[in-house]
Amino acid sequence: MIYLDNSATTKLHPEVLETMLPYLKEEYGNPSSKFYLLAENAKKAVKIAREQVALLLGCDDDEIVFTSGATESNNMIIKGVQDYYGRISENSNYMITSQAEHPSVLESFRYLEERGTNVKYLEVDSFARVNVNELTEELKHQPLLTSIIWGNNEIGSLNPIPDLAQRFEKNNLFFHTDATQIIGKVPFYLKDLPGIRFLSMSGHKIGGPKGIGVAVIRKQSKEIYTKLTPLLHGGGQENDYRSGTLAVHNIVGLGKAAEIAHKHLNENIAKLKELEEYLIALLSENLGNKITFNSDTENKIPGLISLQFIGVNNELLLKKLSPFVALSSGSACSSSKPSHVLTSAGLPLEEVRQTIRITLNPNISKSDLDIFRNIK
Ligand code: PMP
Repeated sequence: MIYLDNSATTKLHPEVLETMLPYLKEEYGNPSSKFYLLAENAKKAVKIAREQVALLLGCDDDEIVFTSGATESNNMIIKGVQDYYGRISENSNYMITSQAEHPSVLESFRYLEERGTNVKYLEVDSFARVNVNELTEELKHQPLLTSIIWGNNEIGSLNPIPDLAQRFEKNNLFFHTDATQIIGKVPFYLKDLPGIRFLSMSGHKIGGPKGIGVAVIRKQSKEIYTKLTPLLHGGGQENDYRSGTLAVHNIVGLGKAAEIAHKHLNENIAKLKELEEYLIALLSENLGNKITFNSDTENKIPGLISLQFIGVNNELLLKKLSPFVALSSGSACSSSKPSHVLTSAGLPLEEVRQTIRITLNPNISKSDLDIFRNIK
């Protein structure tokens, strides 16, 4: 069976597993404890991991907050900003997002909306991208927070986040991006993008373990931390942003995955683009007018292809193919409901129901993809 659902999750990188194992066995210290070697070792390991993640993202170490994953990071940032500034700021009642966000963003906004926040859900184009001019117009209303996904997990389109970040910087307004799907696939350096105040990412999309992610909370200035209300109160870990004993094994694993992603960034992007081109040519040649592509051909996540098998129900097709190839009908998060992303991009229900998503991994080869020659 070939695994082509790498946007849902990725295989743990073997070096990541090796790095994690001691922290599941003999190195069981709590990094918040003091003085004895086990605690100091755990503290040191977390420090190194934090540096590895900061290097990948291009921010300071103390701007990295370890969470349980991107779902938590999104919840924490959106609810935490509203809760903290809702009490002290005049423009606290208005926030912006798009209709094509991940459910963990959309549902966080809905939660706030039910409690009185005025939320604008921007419409998206046929590739699920926001309209930059429309969003820029909205900045006149001084939104407290705007959250726009960087790379869409279902259709693969990139929003123009660096361009948007500049506009938010100029207007001195909070901007958050869910970057979960683009880490290791789109190069960026946060210090060059000061307009991005908050960013979310996850470990298991980059060859790291599940149950670990990062909320990046950029500082206001070198010494001034950006305030928000924590989701988890308690022992004050992570600079009071997120309490709870640190999952050292997972943090160490994420650090290693980040180091590998950083080291192989350009090479992985080139490989994903090459594999994608090969697969698109193969599918077009083999299946010709039986398929149609949803994904754009440019400004997209390399290695993510959304396409339709005309007249074929996606669930039935995926089930039939499942002994040979692991694919998805959209995202792992919303597979039982018709995709809100594809619907917001204007696809009729019939087309949503015949859409499948193929997501590649740089560690596969072209010959693995030849399996698609057998689909007729
Ligand atoms: N945002 C996006 C864009 C995602 O694709 C996912 C994972 N499907 C998440 C957030 C949630 O990540 P996690 O599994 O780490 O909670």
